[in-house]
Amino acid sequence: MSRAAKITVDLDAIRHNFRLARSLQPAANAAAIIKANGYGHGAVEVAKALESEADAFGVACIEEGVELVEAGISKPVLLLEGFFEASELEYISDNGMWSAVHSLEQIDQIAAAQLSQPINVWLKMDSGMHRLGVNPQDYQEAYKRLKALDNVADVILMSHFSSADELDKSVTAEQIEVFNAATADIDAPASLANSAGTLAWEDARRDWLRPGLMLYGATPFPDAQDNADKLIPAMTLTSEVIAVRDVPVGESVGYACTWTADKPSRVGTVALGYADGYPRHAETGTPVWINGQRSRIIGRVSMDMLAIDLTDLPEAGVGTEVEFWGKHITAAEVAPYCGTIPYTLFTGITRRVHKHYINR
Ligand SMILES: *Cc1c(COP(=O)(O)O)cnc(C)c1O
Repeated sequence: MSRAAKITVDLDAIRHNFRLARSLQPAANAAAIIKANGYGHGAVEVAKALESEADAFGVACIEEGVELVEAGISKPVLLLEGFFEASELEYISDNGMWSAVHSLEQIDQIAAAQLSQPINVWLKMDSGMHRLGVNPQDYQEAYKRLKALDNVADVILMSHFSSADELDKSVTAEQIEVFNAATADIDAPASLANSAGTLAWEDARRDWLRPGLMLYGATPFPDAQDNADKLIPAMTLTSEVIAVRDVPVGESVGYACTWTADKPSRVGTVALGYADGYPRHAETGTPVWINGQRSRIIGRVSMDMLAIDLTDLPEAGVGTEVEFWGKHITAAEVAPYCGTIPYTLFTGITRRVHKHYINR
């Protein structure tokens, strides 16, 4: 007995997508990015599904790393944003975690720490995104300082793209140029590519790939792209119709009466709302999948419910399953109807939605 709103996570799809990333640069290592609870898919489950294949896992903060360590994940866990406080360094070192370093102050903190074993550091360069990272002109010096520390083992050179999903812009090529120029005299492994970089920018595929979104089967690109088109969606969000009514012409449905029937309509109420993570901004017309057919959301999404058009689906009734995104209608297709991107759809799913895993 439980609410019908659920996500089904296909772990085979995640493995397929990981292998696709790796196939684009077979000689490279790949860190599977599973921050934010594996983009809402469950970090520990995703890590277990990829543990024999991924070379490392990337998370955003120490709490996310602790969860993996405590679940017994033995592959290295990389803190993509580095440590926030020097007090985290002891745990990082004791548990063989890796950390990004994005500022010169962090180098001082590593130098001053008492560590049980040296840590691997990913030295981040700000190559143009201007969010995190050491400036290109300070980079070589920062690298030398890190290499000279007893507390540091390997140093991986790293940067991050602002616009790799925009294939017609020159920003990514410019960032790569800045990175290449500032690292020309450094002999160390490098890592540039997120999903969009991995899929579409050959120059970005270096010694370590960092695929995130693509592992979950969503394309980062607004349009078709040869490699991205081979991804398999891993998350399916479904719920069930809990009520059906006939709505005559001129009557409205939902809060604020934003949708009004212009022909005799059959409307289903589904147990899924914005408190489950389905976006309140999804507009009338947002596609859904029912009984092998497309239909659409109508009216405003409520906290716990929403309405769909069943006028052309006479067999659908109470108990009929509705897919909101998954293998038939992708999260990337739904996202523009809500003014967002698949990243927020996945990470927005709340605790109330049951998670089921298939193909463990
Ligand atoms: C989140 C993140 C990634 C993965 O990005 P996607 O676009 O999801 O592939 C890679 N690198 C860093 C530093 C990140 O923070």
